[in-house]
Amino acid sequence: MGLQITHLGSGSRGNSTLLESDNCKVLIDCGFSLKQTEKRLSRIRIKPSSIDAIFITHHHGDHSKSALKASQKWGSSLYCNIETAIKMGWNPIADCRTFGNLERININDEISVLPIPIPHDDAENIALIVSNGDGNRAGFVTDLGEATVELKRHLKGCAHISIEANYDHSKLMQGPYPDSLKRRITSRGGHLSNSQTAEILNEVMTPELKTIVLCHLSDKNNAPHLAESEVLMRIGEEFKGMIFISEQSGPEFKIIIGEENPSTSIKEDISDP
Ligand SMILES: [Zn+2]
Ligand SMILES: [Zn+2]
Repeated sequence: MGLQITHLGSGSRGNSTLLESDNCKVLIDCGFSLKQTEKRLSRIRIKPSSIDAIFITHHHGDHSKSALKASQKWGSSLYCNIETAIKMGWNPIADCRTFGNLERININDEISVLPIPIPHDDAENIALIVSNGDGNRAGFVTDLGEATVELKRHLKGCAHISIEANYDHSKLMQGPYPDSLKRRITSRGGHLSNSQTAEILNEVMTPELKTIVLCHLSDKNNAPHLAESEVLMRIGEEFKGMIFISEQSGPEFKIIIGEENPSTSIKEDISDP
């Protein structure tokens, strides 16, 4: 029983990632419009009504935009922590199910999800560690100014890590943003730079790590080749797996953990580009 991971797209204009096992489908974040989410799912021939659960990491619109509408229309269970539910104005009984930090949630006997608190702005944000029942774990980490000891402990041993590489430090500093925004982005509650991401990956990498997806790249303050080269420069010699970038458009590839061939391009599946 492998776990398939498809980034529907990632960036400041929307984030959503599909997880699939044999009998279970889960979305992490639902930050595109409902129409856009359904369109992206249809490109990989997924019926929205087959999604069992939607997990929302935090209340910012690029992660939560159509979550409630989607869960109601598709009949999917909506999960988030209580702080996110309050900020979204969701009723924690009628609209969603809430969880506490480090409380493992079993969607069924195939997929379980562990939320880890991470520092981000005014949000009670979480990273998610997903287990697929046969010992493989995958980590999903976006929107944080720095990695905590606890997060790094849980990322160690993961077979897959999707992690943000939000900005290139010198590009941000030389770019058009006002100083106050630059300070916010680089603060403990902001986002990870390429070099911070590279350092975290270097710290948590074990021989089990087969695939990495860099995501949530800033349009203005980053570029895919900068993020990839910075990470590869830091971990290159030790890392024997594959590295991908999820951009704002998508989906473009599918990662399969727990199988010999860890990735597949899904371009040929796209029926409505
Ligand atoms: Zn955010
Ligand atoms: Zn975000």
